[in-house]
Amino acid sequence: MQTSIEPIGSVEIQETLELADEPVELLMARARQVRDCAWGTTITFSPKVFLPLTNLCKNFCDYCSFRRSPKQAGMWTMRPDEVDDWLLRGRQQHCVEALFCLGDKPESTFESYRDLLAGWGFSSTVDYLGWAGRQALGRDLLPHTNAGILSLADMTVLKSVNVSLGLMLESASDRLCEPGQVHHHAPDKRPAVRIQMIDEAGQLKIPFTTGILIGIGETLRERVEALFEIRRLHRAHGHIQEVIVQNFRAHVSTQMAAAMEPPAVEVGHTVALARLILDPEISLQAPPNLNHDDVPLLVDAGINDLGGISPLTPDYINPGHPWPHLQKLASVLYAGGFSLRPRLPIYDSYVERPDFLDEGLRDRVIAAKARMQETRWS
Ligand code: SF4
Repeated sequence: MQTSIEPIGSVEIQETLELADEPVELLMARARQVRDCAWGTTITFSPKVFLPLTNLCKNFCDYCSFRRSPKQAGMWTMRPDEVDDWLLRGRQQHCVEALFCLGDKPESTFESYRDLLAGWGFSSTVDYLGWAGRQALGRDLLPHTNAGILSLADMTVLKSVNVSLGLMLESASDRLCEPGQVHHHAPDKRPAVRIQMIDEAGQLKIPFTTGILIGIGETLRERVEALFEIRRLHRAHGHIQEVIVQNFRAHVSTQMAAAMEPPAVEVGHTVALARLILDPEISLQAPPNLNHDDVPLLVDAGINDLGGISPLTPDYINPGHPWPHLQKLASVLYAGGFSLRPRLPIYDSYVERPDFLDEGLRDRVIAAKARMQETRWS
């Protein structure tokens, strides 16, 4: 049994599961102390404009309300002029991050999408993302892309126009890909595929965001195993800048519309475990729009970051859950002894570390940081 407040370090999964049996208040107190030591009393967020380039996706995840097929109601692919228009609006609203988020490799499945891209002069989604990244940089925004599974060659291209990339591991459980489970019809959710991409991002020294999705049928052991896997990847390459503990929220018109959502205390329990399993320098995040009334509990459980919050675009992945108002959030945090501060989509420590930032982006990052610090946020 772990008795100190140090991160779990070499303690094995079984011992972590014993730790997880402790009263949740004790677990959270341990996690808080680790957070306080590593991150202090500042809680950060990234002011972002969210650009869902396309909601076409070759996978089917049982909980997803974002995905569409061609000709299905609600399907979209953003035109280049729409992308540029939203980037401009984001810049006007003092956003710093341009988040490009989209379904998995739609060109591999949908001919109409391939034709659309070709008509705009792009050979692939990555080609389009490269253009979009350059446009964002031209608007003084810093791109962060989560485009599903990318190859090493794709990520090499995107590193030159992105300050960081992301891919949720979600789960390291092959069981969730079996018939009747949430990822059975989502080949890109096979853990080995995702682990390979996160590993290759590490080889390329790309500051990386990943995380777990809880409440999709996984066991406590499987949650813990996923967190250990993320820790292993980070220890191999040192590139995991932040980990998200995302709680499942049910959406109408999905297979899981009636499924139970994890209660707040369970989210807090998992956040605390994540804080204790992961190395302390990894930023730990939980989305405030999915935990509207429970931000103080998540802070008590050891988060130091609230992720991207947009003044102008919704959370397209969870459209029924609007971002909290920044002033209100700041007041709630202040009452608990914390301050709210903006951050870049690349954490400061990765700006300093050799090779983690494409040198062509360094001046943009320095300028974005200066601008962010001059802006009055709340
Ligand atoms: S969660 Fe992602 S991979 Fe799964 S169906 Fe939705 S967009 Fe596709």
